[in-house]
Amino acid sequence: MTVITCASCDGQTTYRVRPDRWFECPAGHELAPRDVVVDGMDEWAVDASGVLGTVVHPSFSLEQIAEAHDVLTATGDRTAFDAAAEACRAFLDAYRVGVA
Ligand SMILES: [Zn+2]
Repeated sequence: MTVITCASCDGQTTYRVRPDRWFECPAGHELAPRDVVVDGMDEWAVDASGVLGTVVHPSFSLEQIAEAHDVLTATGDRTAFDAAAEACRAFLDAYRVGVA
């Protein structure tokens, strides 16, 4: 998981989830769930310790694995295997924080 840091703290702190499902950094800066900005195929998530971050959406990882498998099968290109392995790791990261 890639942690989301607090811009008001110059990126030096992370957000933790509160019981009301908002997020707050140690300095008290709040972040509403609707204001969490993620890129492309990423999803926001909270790990077991309550820290806010992002993971690659599992469906995107599975597509990457399938594409890499096709390339590997067709060409034997080692980089395709490496891409599939990286996509597997991204998928497991998402799975561990409940995004699956
Ligand atoms: Zn802050």
